Amino acid sequence: MARVVLAKACQLHIAKHGCVRYSTEAQAVMNEAMYEVMTSIHEAGTYKPERVIVTRQAASIRVAGNSNDILNFCANNYLGLSSHPEVVNAAKKALDDYGSGLSSTRFICGTQDIHKELEEKLARFHKREDAILYASCFDANAGIFEALLTPEDAVISDELNHASIIDGIRLCKAQRHRYKHMDVNDLESILKKTQDCRMRMIVTDGVFSMDGDIAPLKELVSLADTYKALLFVDDCHGTGLLGETGRGTEELLGLHGCSDIINSTLGKALGGAAGGYTTGPKPLIDMLRQKSRPYLFSNTLPPPVVASASKVLDMITDDPSLVSQLAKNTKHFRDRMTAAGFTIWGKGHPICPVMFGDASLARMFSEEMLKRGVFVIGFSFPVVPKGKARIRVQISAAHSEEEIERCVEAFIETGKELKVI
Ligand SMILES: *Cc1c(COP(=O)(O)O)cnc(C)c1O
Repeated sequence: MARVVLAKACQLHIAKHGCVRYSTEAQAVMNEAMYEVMTSIHEAGTYKPERVIVTRQAASIRVAGNSNDILNFCANNYLGLSSHPEVVNAAKKALDDYGSGLSSTRFICGTQDIHKELEEKLARFHKREDAILYASCFDANAGIFEALLTPEDAVISDELNHASIIDGIRLCKAQRHRYKHMDVNDLESILKKTQDCRMRMIVTDGVFSMDGDIAPLKELVSLADTYKALLFVDDCHGTGLLGETGRGTEELLGLHGCSDIINSTLGKALGGAAGGYTTGPKPLIDMLRQKSRPYLFSNTLPPPVVASASKVLDMITDDPSLVSQLAKNTKHFRDRMTAAGFTIWGKGHPICPVMFGDASLARMFSEEMLKRGVFVIGFSFPVVPKGKARIRVQISAAHSEEEIERCVEAFIETGKELKVI
């Protein structure tokens, strides 16, 4: 059908239904192809529904279609600050003073004093020379490798690194190597093979979010020293929550300042609004401002988002008690669950993968938990390996002891009912 005729038909359709549908043959082909993709996702049992929350993010929430309060144990809201009154007020004030957005990238007319202040605060927090903000850590990871590395260089990445690291590395022209998950011997063999390269960069997540396991930073730092390689750590699940003062995986392992480059997010412990950053040596940050494409070609962070992260940094710098509260809550949950007979992976991280093995059991279990007023999510293949299905519980400093106890009780009741324990 000619496009003009279709356009006419479409106008009628829009007038009647308020949307465009099957307007061209090309769209019909696309829709058919998408139907096939979606069918295979459903058949594989990997369809991800989205539950609609009708309240703020918090320890206790409500979801659409259910008037009961539900305990939330699956947010990255580690310090419970995403909806903290001081954080919300800081964002409101920035909205009044600086507006809702800049309608610009940083280098045109999108840099305000609050952006520079937040970058300084982040650099100070990590004890680094400088920091650069992005709209997300996904963007920070998408930008850095391509801007920094050339075909003369090599990037050596843990096989289980986050999707955004994998995608970022795909964009760069350096030699690409992968080492087996946390296997320092495998990493060393690659370091030996790549000695002719100009720069080598070891790339790891600080915390691997599916298993809650922590990168062997001590060994990585030592290998980086021996082989004169750079060490890059994506610390999204470490920043703000690990170590005595929340400086992250480095601090937890007594290695503060030992990696060369840290990428992290403002979207988890640091307020949870949005945003990411790279922090490290000044020459690197200077270069990224000139060459990193997600920084150059995407809008600047909105002022309320900048202000909320900035407030969170002030709060945890002044008083790290939320960080120790989180550690206490995590220990309490892990101890109670282990004593009840559940298997929990990871070493003390607030990500607590409760292992079930069987995918349908994990799914059924999480549905039963929701009926008992506890929101937790089951993960199965292909997100985690086959036969390693689990429910990933995430603990927050905002959970009260009583709330953690209710969660554990729900696990025990459901566990007995489904004959897991
Ligand atoms: C969450 C996460 C990201 C993405 O962070 P955003 O700021 O949400 O884009 C990147 N890397 C790791 C390891 C993460 O856990």
